[in-house]
Amino acid sequence: MTNRVRGLHCSLDGTSYPFGEVHRLSEAGRPLLVDYHLEGMRAQLDRDEIAARPGGFWKWRELLPVSDFDRVPRLGEIDTPLIELAANPGVVVKDEGRLPTGSFKARGLALAVAMARELGLEKLAMPSNGNAGAALAAYATRAGLEALVYCPADTPRINIDETQLAGAEVVEVDGYIDDCGKLLAERAQREGWFDVSTLKEPYRLEGKKTMGLELASQMDWRLPEAIFYPTGGGTGLIGMWKAFAEMRQLGWIEGPLPKMFAVQAAGCAPIVRAFDAGERFAERWENAHTIAAGIRVPKALGDFLILDAVRESGGSAIAVSEDAINASWRELCRTEGLLMCPEGAATHAAWRQAVADGQLDEGAHSVLFNCATGLKYPLQGLA
Ligand SMILES: *Cc1c(COP(=O)(O)O)cnc(C)c1O
Repeated sequence: MTNRVRGLHCSLDGTSYPFGEVHRLSEAGRPLLVDYHLEGMRAQLDRDEIAARPGGFWKWRELLPVSDFDRVPRLGEIDTPLIELAANPGVVVKDEGRLPTGSFKARGLALAVAMARELGLEKLAMPSNGNAGAALAAYATRAGLEALVYCPADTPRINIDETQLAGAEVVEVDGYIDDCGKLLAERAQREGWFDVSTLKEPYRLEGKKTMGLELASQMDWRLPEAIFYPTGGGTGLIGMWKAFAEMRQLGWIEGPLPKMFAVQAAGCAPIVRAFDAGERFAERWENAHTIAAGIRVPKALGDFLILDAVRESGGSAIAVSEDAINASWRELCRTEGLLMCPEGAATHAAWRQAVADGQLDEGAHSVLFNCATGLKYPLQGLA
């Protein structure tokens, strides 16, 4: 195993765990985070040399836990583009819909699959609202592993179809993603499937972390003032925050970090509710509903990590209505030529709200994450 990794620690109580073994949650039942020998690497790594490599997120080798990069599953990963809004030049969309399987879930699942294979696991399972299952299926197939996905029955049809087509078994459940998770856990136990649910294994987060590394490199190592992230399980937000901390320790970036805005739909906003109430953990959101399926997550295992990052950054958690999501979805396509996913459109609606509320200047350099291609969603009636 690689000697760049120092070990893992529990995100809640800091207890150490050794690298090179199969890990799930910590003994405290919380996510495990990967630690690297950053001090030792500081003098050796040239950030610009690394950024100039091809291969999309796989280029950040020294900050990833994989040991054999010749064997990782590859599907044509690229750096995703930053697209400035014509109407608001300070605002850029990072379009993650250009990644394999059409969403940023590719980043996390590629890493989870690569690490699972290195650790000798063969059967990978997860609950999914759609995009994660599709990414797991594609990368597992590429790596020669088996995949099993439990989806809420109202997951967008295209996601269920593409997941099956990529070779995974799909089980549709009458319930939410956390209900799927519970059912799957029982079967996983019985049949020996390894659960790659959001934050239930340590490596998807490392994949999502590459969004922060990539963003910094694309912005000439000067981070924006604000980042708007559509928050379900929150892996991307937590991962970027981790990336910023690691880059600081490496001396790659300096100065203030971006304000992190966790964006949720008003019909499922557990993180916003906890943020407003000043709480560190978020209670389950009952009767969740939103067209933005990717952020319909009633209960997040990493709630406190999301809330800690948002507060530490001086950002905020913002809930946007279905009407506001639809309005931004239409407007960005009609006036900018950008077909977002509804979750991505939600970040635009939240940006607008933050500006209206005086939380951010209109001209502030802001990044909106569009996490999937809009082509995966039913568009009928939108025009
Ligand atoms: C999964 C997903 C999200 C939420 O991402 P997290 O990092 O789990 O919070 C947002 N949008 C889309 C399109 C997704 O597929």
